[in-house]
Amino acid sequence: MSSLFPRPVGADRDRVALRFPGRSLTYGQLAAAAHPVAERLEKGARVAVWATPTPQTAVAVVGALLAGAAVVPLNPKSGERELAHVIEDSAPAAVLAAPGEALPDALGALPRVGVTAEPPGGGAAGPAQDLDTAHDPALPAFVVYTSGTTGPPKGAVLPRRAVAATLDALADAWAWTADDVLVHGLPLFHVHGLILGVLGPLRRGGELRHLGSFTPQAAGRELASGGTMLFGVPTMYHRLAQAAEEDGELAKALADARLLVSGSAALPLHDHERMAAATGRRVVERYGMTETLMLCSPRVNPQTPTSVRVDGPARPGTVGLPLPGVELRLAADDGTEISVYDGETIGEIQVRGDNLFTEYLNRPDATFAAFDGTGPRAWFRTGDMAVRDPDGYVRIVGRKATDLIKSGGYKIGAGEIENALLDHPGVREAAVTGEPDADLGERVVAWIVPADPRTPPSAEELAEHVAGQLAPHKRPRTVRCLDALPRNDMGKVIKPALGGRATRHG
Ligand code: ATP
Ligand code: MG
Repeated sequence: MSSLFPRPVGADRDRVALRFPGRSLTYGQLAAAAHPVAERLEKGARVAVWATPTPQTAVAVVGALLAGAAVVPLNPKSGERELAHVIEDSAPAAVLAAPGEALPDALGALPRVGVTAEPPGGGAAGPAQDLDTAHDPALPAFVVYTSGTTGPPKGAVLPRRAVAATLDALADAWAWTADDVLVHGLPLFHVHGLILGVLGPLRRGGELRHLGSFTPQAAGRELASGGTMLFGVPTMYHRLAQAAEEDGELAKALADARLLVSGSAALPLHDHERMAAATGRRVVERYGMTETLMLCSPRVNPQTPTSVRVDGPARPGTVGLPLPGVELRLAADDGTEISVYDGETIGEIQVRGDNLFTEYLNRPDATFAAFDGTGPRAWFRTGDMAVRDPDGYVRIVGRKATDLIKSGGYKIGAGEIENALLDHPGVREAAVTGEPDADLGERVVAWIVPADPRTPPSAEELAEHVAGQLAPHKRPRTVRCLDALPRNDMGKVIKPALGGRATRHG
């Protein structure tokens, strides 16, 4: 039996748990609002949550977890077809949403459970209710659909054990405590915003301040008024760095934060360096997946008092070490383990640990293909390629399916070329793919959004720039200009939408 929120509410009753624009809830109010939701749900059921960035979403999720139900978070911005896919696949017993919320037709047939952030009687006078009853650690807590960056989203079944393991590993790595006030503006239907960003503070007994929607200024204001940590995706740090260059108050707020964390995709080197130049801070980059929750991050010295600022190492491009409880190995193409730590030999990241999902819902084929072996000790194949530095730090090269280009007998990672392109003043955004080539097998193709669409840099200029920074065989042979890169709601580039090799692998 394990508790997801082991701290008794008693002493925390009047402490703020969640603050959203215009509405905050103390621990006492959260417990009082979540229990009536839990009473309407059955243990072991799957329930969909209409995951708007509101306190109702947090109440719905906590209520479902109290009941021992599994939460299927729904993206309110997804189209009817995507929603229909998730609903058909997960077959939830009900949908949890705020009473006034207009829900799309795809959800029309589901029984609805209304969720409010207003606890009965204002919550203040109610009897002390705790936030959790213990449930079996193997009981599913979530079915989270993957981001769909490389194909149709699959529902990863995450047991309660995995949620607890990953949140405690992050607490260890980052010295995350009840004193921390986490600031973020991430959506609440993925692992990053919901499991780390909402359940993380609640498990620690700390506070979440959600921005409603992200702007650099709003993040700065919350950090300047008590926020200690910031979670963001790379596109947010890109905007923060840019804004901090011109806004001294924002730069100071970022400089004074305890910890700035980026995840969900690689943070381009260019943005790492811009953040460092504008704020003096090094963003901590962590790596994880829907299926595995969090896998790697640099460690904070556990002796560090929680009031002290902590930076990532000045080694942008690494995601640190495997987190406590995570076993990680690199596998060569033939499946054998790579045992060298030379910063050069590329292999697929494979992992195991309590933090893993158990299966893809309704996809025994995909589940079987994703693991090397069966049972709890089987290794999960992440599909991400990496090298390891001599001190064990992991550097992600890219995804096996879309980011590895085999050209002229070389294996080339798209990420380092993207980083080199972004370093060119004429390039605002860049993505690199491979396309079939009669001579080379595949040739490097650069898709760029020029800084100034009237004067895009020439293909020759960019090829020369890349060849000068990396090696001649890594230069793009074709350059294509776009108005914008296709990105999903987490700001990740959807390479299959770019065509060429990425399409064939999609
Ligand atoms: P789908 O599996 O549906 O194609 P997805 O893989 O983007 O979508 P997620 O589970 O949200 O869905 O994303 C996990 C992936 O994001 C990882 O496998 C990795 O490729 C990438 N990723 C996450 N964090 C980092 C990071 N710090 N650096 C590089 N890549 C990262
Ligand atoms: Mg994936």
